[in-house]
Amino acid sequence: MSDTPKGAILQRDKKTYAIVPRTPVGLVTPEVLEAIARAARKYDVPIMKITSGQRIAMVGLEEDKVDMVWDDLKMDVGPAVGLCVHYVQACPGTEVCSLGVRDSLGFGLELEEMLVGYEMPAKLKIGVSGCPMCCAESFVRDVGLIGKKKGWTVVVGGNASGRPRIADVLAKDLDREEARGVIKRFVDYYRDNSGKRQRSARFVEKVGIDAIREAVLG
Ligand code: SF4
Repeated sequence: MSDTPKGAILQRDKKTYAIVPRTPVGLVTPEVLEAIARAARKYDVPIMKITSGQRIAMVGLEEDKVDMVWDDLKMDVGPAVGLCVHYVQACPGTEVCSLGVRDSLGFGLELEEMLVGYEMPAKLKIGVSGCPMCCAESFVRDVGLIGKKKGWTVVVGGNASGRPRIADVLAKDLDREEARGVIKRFVDYYRDNSGKRQRSARFVEKVGIDAIREAVLG
């Protein structure tokens, strides 16, 4: 059993930890911000960082304070390490953006609820964009969605870090339910057929998008 405190990531100094409260698709409320700010003041959190995954990391906590901060926050842990779905990132979409053609926030929330923490061969990130401008970086996410007039396009195997890769189109012109089904089938297929720690980019490269289409869309 690990000694790492709940939801904590050991920092470079090998003494302090970061935690990342769960804020699905980056949506927060005044109450959430107040709870985070209160805890940060009370426990002297030295660094607060808005992450690329649309979350607020509280960095530099001493080990004995981690559980106390979680008790005060009363929020779920946002997975930030481990072999699982880490987060779903979404752009504002039709909720706010004048260019939006699909509800990326609503769909992103639905996918986060369905998949976050889901065990995987490697970490997995999802980006949901409400139009082809792709502000949620869908083409460099393990699973990406792009909202278009005819429906959702699902892309898989993208990666931004290390050896970057542009995702392949798995399916297009899907309604929300169809897109959710395709994503779940892809995620399960990847989980069941990939080597441990193999990111989806390398998996899609190795298997090939045609074979994946055949297996997932059958
Ligand atoms: S992807 Fe489209 S809908 Fe989303 S924020 Fe960018 S321009 Fe707006």
